[in-house]
Amino acid sequence: MIRIAQADITTLSVDAIVNAANQRMFGGGGVDGAIHRAAGPELFEACLKVPEVRSGVRCPTGEARITPGFKLPAKFVIHTVGPVYRDGRHGEPELLAACYRNSLALAAENGCKSIAFPCISTGVYGYPIEDAARISVDTMRAFLSGRDSARPEMEVIFCCFSERDKQVYDNLMKTESP
Ligand code: ADP
Repeated sequence: MIRIAQADITTLSVDAIVNAANQRMFGGGGVDGAIHRAAGPELFEACLKVPEVRSGVRCPTGEARITPGFKLPAKFVIHTVGPVYRDGRHGEPELLAACYRNSLALAAENGCKSIAFPCISTGVYGYPIEDAARISVDTMRAFLSGRDSARPEMEVIFCCFSERDKQVYDNLMKTESP
């Protein structure tokens, strides 16, 4: 089941919230900063324990890593790194879809039944919300329908921060719902 919400993702009582992280997993601005502040310093410690795959990279773009949620109502934080948007022709759509797919797979592997996503890459990374929202919904529907992996029982929340982002998602769900 897919739901659209307008909320601060750090307040949601779900099994996992997804963080739009950076490759170092050092925390940062935007939703990443908000999640680290709400989870407390243990989250930063847990991120540092994630092994580097190469110098300065704990989570390559498009991949996902999991940590506990510590002080958050959510049990887990799934950290994924969205692509920086250039023009949409440098692999950004595939990388953004991979973020959603890999986060969902990691949530399923860890027994999560509910997961909330922010609008990955649409802040500082500059991905146009209309394009990013379409990719996220398409990827989610493929996952939930079992075409990618059979986990249809998962509740997925697209957690929009702004009213405008929520409108984009609401319109997309209305026009393209099966
Ligand atoms: P990125 O670097 O992937 O673009 P940002 O954190 O800059 O990540 O922005 C991603 C999205 O997260 C934006 O739509 C932004 O409005 C939203 N956002 C920022 N803070 C929060 C929050 N507390 N809860 C949910 N979404 C948030």
